[in-house]
Amino acid sequence: MLHDPADLHVWSLPLRTRFRGLTVRDGVLLRGDAGWGEFSPFWDYDADESAAWWRAAVEAADEGWPAPLRTRIPVNVTVPAVDAETAHRIVRGSGGCRTAKVKVAEPGQSLADEIARLEAVRDALGPGGAIRVDANAAWDVDTAVSRLVALDRAAGGLEYAEQPVPGVDDLAALRRRTHVPIAADESIRRAQDPFAVARAHAADVVVLKVQPLGGVRACLELAERIGLPVVVSSALESSVGLAAGVALAAALPELPYACGLATAQLFTSDLVDSPFLPVDGALDVRRTSPDPALLAASAAPPELTDRWRARVAAVRARA
Ligand SMILES: [Mg+2]
Repeated sequence: MLHDPADLHVWSLPLRTRFRGLTVRDGVLLRGDAGWGEFSPFWDYDADESAAWWRAAVEAADEGWPAPLRTRIPVNVTVPAVDAETAHRIVRGSGGCRTAKVKVAEPGQSLADEIARLEAVRDALGPGGAIRVDANAAWDVDTAVSRLVALDRAAGGLEYAEQPVPGVDDLAALRRRTHVPIAADESIRRAQDPFAVARAHAADVVVLKVQPLGGVRACLELAERIGLPVVVSSALESSVGLAAGVALAAALPELPYACGLATAQLFTSDLVDSPFLPVDGALDVRRTSPDPALLAASAAPPELTDRWRARVAAVRARA
């Protein structure tokens, strides 16, 4: 179908806490025969890298997704690089999540800040919960080895550490020097070769995100070929875009870990009247459509709308 630029809905939503350096998230919705799709690459992605995000949006709008194999998706609460008290409150208010993903390696913060955050999260979750950390590739191998010893202790055991170091070689080297399981995120979604992680035995778990990897079907194929356990995570989408991640999690043959799809919690408002918020630590599998009033309320200002239209035009021109 056409996806006339006039039919693009450009939205902008504030975040509760600074996340990935952002206080506002914005993107585009498009509507097709199968439903609504979301295109929301971060602003540091150029047209080339955004092409996969566009394919995911078009898949959602035009084709829809494969049939689900389950009706509920266990999810983790995401704890940004906040103080201990806030971290505790976020976990307690998470809708029953039994797994927490805690951001670490925030510029300007110390190991003591991270230990306090992890201790607070453990206290809030109780002994039965699972805690994972995400360093967004910020450490070198030696730093990661020593940090993981301290953070594993503070957390009372880490489920895994997500992308503690940048490259595949570093992940593999780190994995030989720590007993904490390693998850690959950036090394999958921003890599030329997502299979290098598996070949190098660089990870125990892979994080798949629908938009950066080009859609639900592309992710299912990738998961099958990689042959490692998958955690489906969001790219901080609205609850329209999150439905694609939920569809992927629902269609995977195995889903051994809680998914990172509860990120609607990081928004102060959403585009749908019933956002993807966890109940008893899980999301219901369903499609979502934007509520017209919420779409109008979140409409981006003209300058931002123009920037998104230009972005879509650039991606479509190279497609
Ligand atoms: Mg990550």
